[in-house]
Amino acid sequence: MATITPTKVYRRHNCARGHRMWNAFARCVWPRAVWVNGEGPWASVAYCGGTTVMLFTTLVNATDAKGSIDAYGCGGRCGGRHEVVRLEREIDEEAAFQRARRYLEPLGREVGR
Ligand SMILES: [Zn+2]
Ligand SMILES: [Zn+2]
Repeated sequence: MATITPTKVYRRHNCARGHRMWNAFARCVWPRAVWVNGEGPWASVAYCGGTTVMLFTTLVNATDAKGSIDAYGCGGRCGGRHEVVRLEREIDEEAAFQRARRYLEPLGREVGR
């Protein structure tokens, strides 16, 4: 298994929408990506030639994917420029949860996460 290194976190994307799918979020973060595959908040990104992005639900999977393109190359013009990026939505989910509780609990409704 590849070594897990500290990762970059990207919160900024290029529009004001709240993307529900990580794949849509990633296309917004890297608008010039050749392709964005998969779904999840962990991205294995290659910046060789054109930018390509693979998304995963876990850090381990993203790190393994980066490890294999580090070892075997990501494609035609691989320059070894690969990294793992954690995507985070700008929406603060904890704040949204607390706000929902403030509105709904006085009405006798329980708020699930
Ligand atoms: Zn966006
Ligand atoms: Zn490469």
